[in-house]
Amino acid sequence: MKRAIYPGSFDPVTFGHMDIIKRAAIMFDEVVVAVLDNKAKTSLFSVEERVKMLQKVTEDVPNVRVDSFYGLLINYAARENIHVAIRGLRAVTDFEYELQIAQTNKLLSKGSLDTVFLTTDLKYAYLSSSGVKEIAYFDGDISECVPPYVEEKVLEKYRELRMNQKNR
Ligand code: ADP
Repeated sequence: MKRAIYPGSFDPVTFGHMDIIKRAAIMFDEVVVAVLDNKAKTSLFSVEERVKMLQKVTEDVPNVRVDSFYGLLINYAARENIHVAIRGLRAVTDFEYELQIAQTNKLLSKGSLDTVFLTTDLKYAYLSSSGVKEIAYFDGDISECVPPYVEEKVLEKYRELRMNQKNR
């Protein structure tokens, strides 16, 4: 069985991520979308919230499983017996960083983990989770960037944050 892992922050998942997930699901028998529990990075959503959103928006793709992991990707992939990592490329600016990660993973895993790059669909080339958060923070419309369920969660999160700031 051909399996692949698509790791990332997904804070939150966007149409760009979903496009990569759906295309990878056609190429592989199973795609594990894995949310990285990165304590060094501050995120808007908890790992559990991100996993739940991903599960919800991929529920119609049967060969996709959502999980989370802490630590090195190569260790998680080895435990799961997965030898291919998927990453998305939007522009050449992504490439340098992604190439470095891919080469590091290849080296650290002693050749066991390879990376497959999927280039973004041009209509999502501009999309990033941080862009979505910035637009939403300033009350902009994110309906072109994320599915309705995610949009609802992002708006809810910012409402909560504003309430907490007010009550302080
Ligand atoms: P990370 O913090 O690991 O970069 P992200 O959630 O930002 O996590 O992205 C996960 C992966 O998805 C990365 O490979 C990134 O390049 C890719 N990606 C993000 N947005 C898009 C998009 N709009 N189109 C294609 N790939 C994307």
